[in-house]
Amino acid sequence: MNAVILIQAHCDAWALLNHYKFDRVRSDGENIRACCKLHGGNNPTAFVMNPEGLWYCHTGGCGGGDIFTLVQRMESVDFYAAVRILAELFDVDISGVRITEKKQRHIGEIQRFIKTMKSMRPAQPTEAFSLAANVREVTRFRSFLPETLAHFHVGYVDRATLYRRSGEAYTLCRRLVFPVIFQGIQVGVALRRTHSRDYPKWSHQPAGLEFKNLLYNYDNVSGATRIAVCEGLTDVMAFYEIDVPAVATFGAGVSEAQYRLLLRSGADLIICYDGDDAGRRATQKALNLFQHKANLFTLPLEEGEDPESIGRETLKERYERSNPLWLTPMISSSSAKDFGKSTPAKIMTTETASVPRWNSSDAWPL
Ligand SMILES: [Zn+2]
Repeated sequence: MNAVILIQAHCDAWALLNHYKFDRVRSDGENIRACCKLHGGNNPTAFVMNPEGLWYCHTGGCGGGDIFTLVQRMESVDFYAAVRILAELFDVDISGVRITEKKQRHIGEIQRFIKTMKSMRPAQPTEAFSLAANVREVTRFRSFLPETLAHFHVGYVDRATLYRRSGEAYTLCRRLVFPVIFQGIQVGVALRRTHSRDYPKWSHQPAGLEFKNLLYNYDNVSGATRIAVCEGLTDVMAFYEIDVPAVATFGAGVSEAQYRLLLRSGADLIICYDGDDAGRRATQKALNLFQHKANLFTLPLEEGEDPESIGRETLKERYERSNPLWLTPMISSSSAKDFGKSTPAKIMTTETASVPRWNSSDAWPL
């Protein structure tokens, strides 16, 4: 007999979570849900544990494991100490019983559980995040109006301690702070360097948050009939100054979650990715994704340009002559499930597109 098997047979997941004072512990089918004590979150669905004590954290980047790894992490002890702690907690007599490392079969079970839980990860976060630093208000940044900076709550930190996915801490200095609000909650922040020699240019916190599941400024475009889709946060701010609702996809390219959010808006989409190779590739991909599903336009941008850099007057003028990529007579919300299944499309030209709203003679920039 081996102590690990004995303890596993006496596993009481409820007793374990209560012992470590996990908050809001409740049953969810055969599993248990709670706020995650490992990263100290306040989301009551973040942490899930099955009756055998396999666990996974959805939001804090904590990963998953079994009862032994949970005790190891909670108490900062090794495997053997965790075995003894659990034996006492579950009242299992392991005197004279060998403590041997977990069998491959058990490790396989843990890995399968984590994989299943990962695939069930909620698409969007619901947990509030704030930076543990003194964030000051910013009133000047490039050519932005003070009211734009105030509207987007752009801040500045002299110094901030950030965390990698591994939990390791590091420090960044002199950074602009862009709060990322989603469904009324500040779920993260984007930090931009202010000195060109600092790396990286952009950092995002918390490290466990999938920013590609979000759209920057999405809360503020509800009800809009046309939405500009940009790469960067400052592009969104530039559009704000010409009174155009815009969102950013945190880089060139639309993820599946972003695709669903954009389709749900029912709006015409103006793809405004940067005038570079990555931007052009992402624009072509957006056409393949959204054809038959949404009216799609592109903002004419020359090599090296982006929506912010061309100045507001030029941006407004370019926006007004956005080129149609795809126009569809009907937008179906049910098409959200077809992500990535559409066949490659050709960019429409003035000859092939029977488009009543076509109002530009500009060549399409691909
Ligand atoms: Zn966690």
